[in-house]
Amino acid sequence: MTIDIFQDFARFKGYTYTARMAYGMENGYPVLLQYLSENQWRVTVTANIPQPAALQGRLGVQLNRRTASKLLCKPDSVSCTLRFHRENIGELYHYLLSVIFQQFSMLGVVPLTFCPFCGQDHCDSLCVVQDRYAPVHEACAAGVFPPATYEEPTTTPEKKNYVTGILGAILGLLVGALPQLALNYFTGYSLMLLYLLPPVLAFFGYKLLKGPATRTGKIICTALSVVFSPLLAMGCVLAAVTSYEIPLQLAFSLLPWWMTEAEFAMAVVSDFLYGILFTVLGSLLGWRFILGPGRMPCETFRNHMATLRPLHGEPLPSPSEEPSENGPEY
Ligand SMILES: [Zn+2]
Repeated sequence: MTIDIFQDFARFKGYTYTARMAYGMENGYPVLLQYLSENQWRVTVTANIPQPAALQGRLGVQLNRRTASKLLCKPDSVSCTLRFHRENIGELYHYLLSVIFQQFSMLGVVPLTFCPFCGQDHCDSLCVVQDRYAPVHEACAAGVFPPATYEEPTTTPEKKNYVTGILGAILGLLVGALPQLALNYFTGYSLMLLYLLPPVLAFFGYKLLKGPATRTGKIICTALSVVFSPLLAMGCVLAAVTSYEIPLQLAFSLLPWWMTEAEFAMAVVSDFLYGILFTVLGSLLGWRFILGPGRMPCETFRNHMATLRPLHGEPLPSPSEEPSENGPEY
């Protein structure tokens, strides 16, 4: 699912939308949609919620965490992250809203009437403010967002580059190997958990040196970590042996002879196995938490004055064409 589908959906719903944000009215409540990633949208419904804790509990029971995660109920809004797997987007979205509105009616929730800036009612406009689409006074919103800050950000996105990313990953591997090597050198033993460090730092170094957060980038980091793991295990064996004041060269030439000793061979083999095991684990962590899930930042308030709309006017038009009969089906 791409951002085009997000925008098509917003257009189909008759919402106003920008690159990664869409907003409109549902059932009398302002709704804000934010595009987080290709399969995660943040949905925020603004309302006057007298018992946010009760609503949170009830929605938590009704909504499956697999499809609606990070549920958060506040006195003025309810939001959650809608996660698509293979479902129909429209059906999932409408299911979420219907569950929320059903609980709204059971808990006496009504649309919000107070302006978030001045706290007074009789709002005359709607505006995206603090990650929600809320009723405001046009004058209050204009006071908070002076015209000088309306313009679009002009900074170009930073250039991403596989070469520097790979360099960062290799540096990460080397730095991550140091504690394990030092431990072997000074004590003659390995702490298996330390094998987790090189892959994690490889992902981190890759990200730090601006490697693109793509599937290819993740595969590169994982492959480098897997290749590095037996080398580190070998390095640890040599570090442990040299700690007995045996010169490195001699230690290396004596390795085949030592490998015939059962106890030594077992130690070497377990280092190799744990090295691989923790490398896979570390790569999964990097895959999921350091480079994933390719999330785009939410839009900031810089150009949100552009989101200001009259509260009791006509349905809000989209910047491009109106939804048509033969538009995409959701
Ligand atoms: Zn106000």
